[in-house]
Amino acid sequence: MALAANRREFLTTLATMAAPAQRPLVIDAHCHAGLGQAMSAPWTTRADIQVTLRNMAEAGIDRTIIFPINNTEYEKPNREIAEICARYPDKFIGFAKHDPQTEAGRIAAMLGREVKEMGLKGLKLHRLPTREVLDAVAELGIPVLYHPEKVGNLHMIASEYPQVPFIVAHLGSFASQNWMEHLEAISIARRYPNVYLETSGVVYFKYLELAVKELGPGKIIFGSDGPELDSRVELYKIKLLKLPPADEAMVLGGNIRRLLPKNTI
Ligand SMILES: [Zn+2]
Repeated sequence: MALAANRREFLTTLATMAAPAQRPLVIDAHCHAGLGQAMSAPWTTRADIQVTLRNMAEAGIDRTIIFPINNTEYEKPNREIAEICARYPDKFIGFAKHDPQTEAGRIAAMLGREVKEMGLKGLKLHRLPTREVLDAVAELGIPVLYHPEKVGNLHMIASEYPQVPFIVAHLGSFASQNWMEHLEAISIARRYPNVYLETSGVVYFKYLELAVKELGPGKIIFGSDGPELDSRVELYKIKLLKLPPADEAMVLGGNIRRLLPKNTI
């Protein structure tokens, strides 16, 4: 009996030692990967996953959501994303990207394939989506990461598609180019339960602080806009919010995890 008890104790000790440190998962919800056709700027040319992997390792980012850089058509770039995810299944989660105008009429079929057959888990948009896009998104049950031309675009689409989670990139304004858009994004996220704000590329840090203060941690999602923006720096900005650990865990991974299709992670 004593022996069995000791053995049990020994095994329990071993299991405890083997268990990874209890650290909540850190997920970067905004990152680019792959090649572009235009080569007119970094964001139309190349996004190197080796840079992303290095920064993830250094910063302690467990998973990164990747999608194509700017192109006019996305069938091939999305396939490239799926291939990268297959190569690094424990590092990357793939989103598709589509252009509602240049790919009109073909998006529902393409996105269906990309999600059901290629395993992509969401959609990145730069332009106001059409019904074609959002009907497909709603049917597939995936979230949308949207970098809007103007944040006010969210009013109609968020209320027309309450079942779709919309994540507004850059707190509504890349590089804080328009600070009023940060305020508009905060008020839209407050109004619509299905609107969330992503943190990458916010230069005026006080708007990140304001967003958490006014909306609470449940609406804020960490993203880096890597590899052009450095995910180590972007993650540090979240640390600087000095949130209680449970709140920080929501921002860094808990919220996006909940919005991804079931069993993604
Ligand atoms: Zn981006």
